[in-house]
Amino acid sequence: RAKKKGRNQYEKANVEVNAGCFERLIIENNLRKALEKNELSLNFQPQLDIRKEKVIGFEALLRWNHPDLGNIPPSDFIPIAEETGLILPIGDWVLKNACLKLKEWEKAGFYSLRIAVNLSAQQFLQKNMVEKIKAIIKETSIEPECLELEITEGVVIHDIDSAISVLQQLKEVGVQISIDDFGTGYSSLNYLKELPVNTLKIDRSFIFDIDTNPSSKALTAAITTMAHDLKLNVVAEGVETYKQLSYVKKSSCDVIQGYYFSRPLPSDHVVNFLINTRQAVQKDA
Ligand code: C2E
Ligand code: MG
Ligand code: MG
Ligand code: MG
Repeated sequence: RAKKKGRNQYEKANVEVNAGCFERLIIENNLRKALEKNELSLNFQPQLDIRKEKVIGFEALLRWNHPDLGNIPPSDFIPIAEETGLILPIGDWVLKNACLKLKEWEKAGFYSLRIAVNLSAQQFLQKNMVEKIKAIIKETSIEPECLELEITEGVVIHDIDSAISVLQQLKEVGVQISIDDFGTGYSSLNYLKELPVNTLKIDRSFIFDIDTNPSSKALTAAITTMAHDLKLNVVAEGVETYKQLSYVKKSSCDVIQGYYFSRPLPSDHVVNFLINTRQAVQKDA
């Protein structure tokens, strides 16, 4: 495209590309040291059972605070972590620390919560993945049922037969599996009848205009009906307003996650959040 606009434009485009590469290189170099320098942390976003109006658990979301570069969003560094393989040590760290937090909340008196952790394709495809999960469950002594692994359609589609086999093994371990960003992949629905998964998380692109766009409303309702027929739970992601919540409720989604209820919380705010919401529910009752 730039080439057509003549030499100057072309050079300008080239500089921009180089600036992008440079930024990438900076992120990559710093990401290598982020773990040992303790720059990574987890935030936790509550998930709410719509009908029981009860917090059922949290999704762990990775945060990177660099002393000079500041907060770098996951959308900027996760793809680079995936391309460089750094996602493997980082992913191990996330899994272990998410499980340790769950244990902490138990010690504070909050039982039967669950923790959802995002898994990249590379992590999922590791030969020793199931063994790793087992080891982390043992080491942190959490109940396997309380750990939910979030994968995307893309991970499954890559190699459907080995995905089924890995998911089957994970099911035997007892962990829960959800399909994240559901509805944004290019896969056929056929794979859903083969896969031992528990939950579909409807992508927030369907939720954000659910109150104004009849197609989003129809798709959310249809996905939910299909999921329930398949005995799957449905999480609506990215619920930001009361209006969206009421549409999501009407569509019979089971769980909401979004800014309307809570933003992702720094880990040292979680116990207070749980205490406050418990008091709010008791007052309502
Ligand atoms: P995701 O797994 O789909 O996580 C949900 C994202 O939506 C989070 O963004 C969350 O902060 C955001 N969100 C939640 N509620 C709302 C809302 O009401 N409105 C809007 N606009 N956004 C909302 P975040 O934390 O920036 O993470 C982005 C993505 O990065 C995640 O999407 C996930 O794919 C990836 N990611 C985050 N942590 C990890 C991790 O530990 N491992 C891996 N492999 N990927 C991760
Ligand atoms: Mg997720
Ligand atoms: Mg998602
Ligand atoms: Mg995602």
